[in-house]
Amino acid sequence: MMEIRFDGKRALVTGAGKGIGREIVKVLVDCGAEVVAVSRTQADLDSLRAETGCTTLLAELGSAAAAQQAALDAGPIDLLVNNAGIAIIEPFLETSVEGWDETLAVNLRAAFIVSQVIARGMVARGKGGSIVNISSQAGVAALPNHAAYGASKAGLDHLTRVMALELGPHQIRVNSINPTVILTPMGEKVWGDPVKGDPMKARIPLGRFGYPVHVAQAVAYLLSDKADMITGIIMPVDGGYLVN
Ligand code: NAP
Repeated sequence: MMEIRFDGKRALVTGAGKGIGREIVKVLVDCGAEVVAVSRTQADLDSLRAETGCTTLLAELGSAAAAQQAALDAGPIDLLVNNAGIAIIEPFLETSVEGWDETLAVNLRAAFIVSQVIARGMVARGKGGSIVNISSQAGVAALPNHAAYGASKAGLDHLTRVMALELGPHQIRVNSINPTVILTPMGEKVWGDPVKGDPMKARIPLGRFGYPVHVAQAVAYLLSDKADMITGIIMPVDGGYLVN
């Protein structure tokens, strides 16, 4: 009854080369979707295509023009996952304008641009669709040294709500997933030092960090018909971090 299948559906996953995005591609392919994977390192895409049979697109999503072109090149899409993101972790007082702009360009503007192109296609085809934005607990709770990153994710969560409102009449559902620390190259870079990681882990009720599959399973659920009445939500996948 709860088996998730995406046979006959086409999915687009951004930031698919490593970490969470890579796992999302694998899970969606396992569930029968035809997947287009977008990332910016060709070697990652080549190995992912060899592993999964997905289609790949090389694009630097920090460029507005490249983000728009990638979404156009992807063709008709039923399921979209805006996962590409960067984390430039620095104190507020030392946050550079360049770092701020790059963070917002990748984490927020690219999701807007790609979603706009894909949603226009969904509306034109009239069969609805489902979009999941990979946000963060840092978009909900204040974390030190996360001014640009947290602002980009809070912005992404609100984009989720407004898109859900406007696209709902077209049967396009839009939801955010807000993970805690997930053990990926990004997660290791930011939290891998136990001096930083241990106090964070201590604040997570389940007492552990997550793995990419924890996020990918939640993505598959929200993309699927099992979540047919769910739109506009902010779904923590956080071991309970956000209870306080
Ligand atoms: P990751 O290990 O750094 O992997 C990110 C992937 O996205 C990489 O393949 C990267 O390509 C690609 N990417 C980044 N910027 C891109 C751009 N401008 N254009 C095209 N591709 C780009 O990160 P992750 O941990 O899997 O994170 C995935 C998402 O989850 C992000 O939105 C992140 O903010 C969010 N998240 C992560 C955590 C965590 O603890 N890991 C927690 C909460 C939320 P390259 O490697 O070639 O740059």
